[in-house]
Amino acid sequence: VARDNGVVTSTEASEQLFDRARAVSPGGVNSPVRAFRAVGGTPIFMASGQGAWLTDVDGRRYVDLVGSWGPMLLGHAHPEVLAAVGDAVARGTSFGTPSEPEVLLAEEIVARASAESVRMVSSGTEATMSAIRLARGFTGRNKIVKFAGCYHGHVDALLAQAGSGVVTLGLPETPGVPSHVTADTIVLPYNDRAAVEAAFAEYGDQIACLITEAAAGNMGVVPPEPGFNQFLSEVCGRNGALFISDEVMTGFRVTRSGHWGLDGEREGWVPDLVTYGKVMGGGFPAAAFGGRRDVMEQLAPVGPVYQAGTLSGNPIATTAGLTTLRLADAAAYERLDSASSQLQGLVRDALDAAGLAYVLQNAGNMFSVFWGVDAPVTDFAGAQAQEAWRYKPFFHAMLDAGIYLPPSAFECWFVSAAHDEEALSRIAEALPGAARAAA
Ligand code: PLP
Repeated sequence: VARDNGVVTSTEASEQLFDRARAVSPGGVNSPVRAFRAVGGTPIFMASGQGAWLTDVDGRRYVDLVGSWGPMLLGHAHPEVLAAVGDAVARGTSFGTPSEPEVLLAEEIVARASAESVRMVSSGTEATMSAIRLARGFTGRNKIVKFAGCYHGHVDALLAQAGSGVVTLGLPETPGVPSHVTADTIVLPYNDRAAVEAAFAEYGDQIACLITEAAAGNMGVVPPEPGFNQFLSEVCGRNGALFISDEVMTGFRVTRSGHWGLDGEREGWVPDLVTYGKVMGGGFPAAAFGGRRDVMEQLAPVGPVYQAGTLSGNPIATTAGLTTLRLADAAAYERLDSASSQLQGLVRDALDAAGLAYVLQNAGNMFSVFWGVDAPVTDFAGAQAQEAWRYKPFFHAMLDAGIYLPPSAFECWFVSAAHDEEALSRIAEALPGAARAAA
């Protein structure tokens, strides 16, 4: 039973659904972090969303700070996105042929980003998996470099010291990925130039690619130190390896261009390949990878590197993504950035007032709190050193007050362009009590 503005509401319908779900699905969920394993309690089953708000199956409303883990840049059920999707659905849902919306979305991405050519897929995992296969095919090399704490989806070769649900559940790696599959994966500490130099000095001529989150958001938010991405791009260039910037989380969220680019960070570097997902699907399963034309044209049917998908470039998903990107104008990003900075201020005020030690880190409008630490977190070891247990009472106090946060201390908080004064003041009311609960 939870208390909402003095009215006692129940979570009975969620509990019943969760029982039924557990009987027919592992853990009752279709993605592990939804299961509330790190914070305890029954996952809340949502029935609808509108703008910054979610309504659960018991009829209780929450301000949403998960945003479906990133896609809902404009908030839920944006009327123009729904209208465009409705029109598209009425014309049929999948043809298995090329169709206009996928061309329009590809044109929009190519016009905004530095990718010369893109291929659509249905999830961020598929995008990074395919980008790595392409990099290996293009270079004729096998080794890949990734950073500890970065999550690139559940691609076998990338599930080595991964962030997101892997760290939330405390799994070092996962059974089912044979050691020979990760034998060619070199895992380095994030933001560590010396480690990158050393890996390339030893294996430079065997490394097909280096993949990094454009700004790490899956171990909590850990931005690249100034010039780090530029440095990575140069090291890759010197060694004939491809630089893959994974913008599944950051892309079209942090900047309208779809490229990581704060404080001049991106000046001078262009990724050889880039991966997108989340925002570009507008809440539907659409993702993409793209980049240099000479590399992309190694893909079948032009080149020999095979990659395919029954629902790739699906007309409904690409219509939702295209409409979202077109609506995401400069004013929408201003609203989003301003809501995020206001919220970051509110969080700081509440945690300071409760006397908590913490570090709040942001990458543009993406941010998260590291609990019980007093120095900036620059890598996975730093992120794991936080007092993550403090998040549990904080999370539940917020949930009881009608604020839906990511159910893990290692995840980014997502704000949308629909987070208005009403949503922010609701969060402001909830924060002091939750901060005291964490102290
Ligand atoms: N890459 C990054 C940076 C991500 O944050 C994620 C998902 O959280 C992925 C890849 C995988 O995307 P998906 O969950 O759509 O497979």
